[in-house]
Amino acid sequence: GSEVAVEGENVEIDEANEDDLLGGLRFDDTSNISIPDRLVDQVIGQKEARDIVMRAAKQHRHVMMIGSPGTGKSMLAKAMSYLLPKESLQDVLVYHNPDDSNEPKVRTVPAGKGDQIVEAHREESRKRNQMRSFLMWIILAVIIGYSFLVVHQILIGILAAGIIYFAFRYSSRGGDAMVPKLLINNADRSVAPFEDATGAHAGALLGDVRHDPFQSGGMETPSHDRVEAGAIHKANKGVLFVDEINTLDIRSQQHLMTAIQEGEFAITGQSERSSGAMVQTEPVPCDFIMVAAGNMDAMENMHPALRSRIKGYGYEVYMEDTIDDDPEMRRQYVRFIAQEVDKDGRLPHFSPDAVREIILEAKRRAGRKGQLTLELRDLGGLVRVAGDIARSRDAERTTRQDVLDAKKRSRSIEQQVADDYIERRKDYELRVSQGEAVGRVNGLAVMGGDSGIVLPVMAEVAPSQGPGEVIATGQLKEMAQEAVENVSAIIKKFSDEDLSQKDVHIQFVQVGEGGVDGDSASITVATAVISALENIPVAQDLAMTGSLSVRGDVLPVGGVTHKIEAAAKAGCKRVIIPKANEQDVMIEDEYKDQIEIIPVSHISEVLDVALVGEVEKDSLVDRLKNITSKALDAGQQG
Ligand code: ADP
Repeated sequence: GSEVAVEGENVEIDEANEDDLLGGLRFDDTSNISIPDRLVDQVIGQKEARDIVMRAAKQHRHVMMIGSPGTGKSMLAKAMSYLLPKESLQDVLVYHNPDDSNEPKVRTVPAGKGDQIVEAHREESRKRNQMRSFLMWIILAVIIGYSFLVVHQILIGILAAGIIYFAFRYSSRGGDAMVPKLLINNADRSVAPFEDATGAHAGALLGDVRHDPFQSGGMETPSHDRVEAGAIHKANKGVLFVDEINTLDIRSQQHLMTAIQEGEFAITGQSERSSGAMVQTEPVPCDFIMVAAGNMDAMENMHPALRSRIKGYGYEVYMEDTIDDDPEMRRQYVRFIAQEVDKDGRLPHFSPDAVREIILEAKRRAGRKGQLTLELRDLGGLVRVAGDIARSRDAERTTRQDVLDAKKRSRSIEQQVADDYIERRKDYELRVSQGEAVGRVNGLAVMGGDSGIVLPVMAEVAPSQGPGEVIATGQLKEMAQEAVENVSAIIKKFSDEDLSQKDVHIQFVQVGEGGVDGDSASITVATAVISALENIPVAQDLAMTGSLSVRGDVLPVGGVTHKIEAAAKAGCKRVIIPKANEQDVMIEDEYKDQIEIIPVSHISEVLDVALVGEVEKDSLVDRLKNITSKALDAGQQG
């Protein structure tokens, strides 16, 4: 399919300025942008998944979508239902079975007919009941009249009348059994059904028969009246969407497979001890297209037979997390914002500046240069928060400032913890970002995927009684050991100090709970150890991140943008990052003037920047350069 161009009233493309954040699109606010009619055309990116969904809809094939949450899986599944023919929709009726009331009969009729049939039955039943009451009154009158003639039989007469009255009442209940239940009603449906069965329990997925507390004695609800359709039946001739497919219990996955195979599935009570479990209907049609979704993990853990069933009779497609950042894509992001505002219905439309800020955020969240994030549910969340802020101040438009405020407000829990931590530490440990200290280095880490934090490392080197040891605390112990091993291979070559005869103590200033990635702190540990070993102080206005090879190369790490911002927030003036990460830096404008970014490719460069005190430092760095010059050359070429 061809990409959908972005257009609308008062919207034009300024070809000369295609490279700006809006892809050259010029508009007053996002209300100018027109939104495509078809849901499938509203999907941004995911070209392959879109093509497959369109093809699968035509061919009636199942689809398996693998990818991150919020990238449009359920949106595409829903879009698919709009593409299916609605002529084939059906109503399903359940009838009382006079031969075996525990096996209700099932009949399928064209959509819209079901209502009429039920109405006809009701009418008939009403007439029958009227007739019955009429008869009853006549008989009552005769009996009472007769007993008046023979006075002493009055009591007997009244008694007989009562018996006949109740006999009729009860038998008239049988009338309900004559009226079928409309299990699936598609009368008012203008598109094929879309059923989201994510996390559904067995009853909701496969149908159920309600328990009847009055199982006998004329008070019971006829069993066919207690039958409830499941998502698989409601999805008949439409789409059944199941996200996190692997979390569906194995029995349900098996049943689901049977349902796909047979195209029909009998309904029975799902809880064993309920009276509903005695009831099983004739097969109920469930001819749906299955759209199963999940992350990579889901694919490995789902029932293998179900997976191969879908694979064998359909398509598997991988959802993209990011997409190439080009002018056309940026224009589509403008449309995305218009769509989200439109969908919410209450948010003020976005000014071009506000849109720019969102697109900037899409760049940042991609985490890679030249890419935009496709995790659009979260980005949509930001659009809504910003719009809500604008609305709360009765603004006509959502502005850039609203987006900035929204970003602050919609910080992740991890970011809030990290910010709070930084705030508190600033209060009583001002020295963290100024002056100098031996053996102390401001490392950087990422918490929870999207928040950076300054993680100071302290090293102390002491003569050892036995063979030298690395003594580190906490979850980063292994990383510390590895970093020290790598650095000691380098130190061995240039220093008189023999690390193997010494104990190295490494302490990480505790960050609290939560995952901190270890690897990226290894240049920090190395710098701290060398500083302690050689007794040369380290500048404290500096923070650093980078991984270290045995040869002294500084290797790339994740999350540089968040780390740099964390360093800036903590008051650091300079930050060292691996040269290989240079292109991943997408810090917000406000930080650009606050902090100097120093890309490096070798540990000697790190020390050159970090260590303080000309004479000692220079000789150390020179020695280091000489010894590892080969590695350094390789690093600079890379
Ligand atoms: P998933 O099923 O992958 O978790 P959803 O389809 O539920 O994600 O996405 C949630 C919302 O995010 C959608 O309703 C839509 O507003 C927005 N969204 C997600 N992906 C896209 C996309 N590729 N194009 C446009 N909007 C999207």
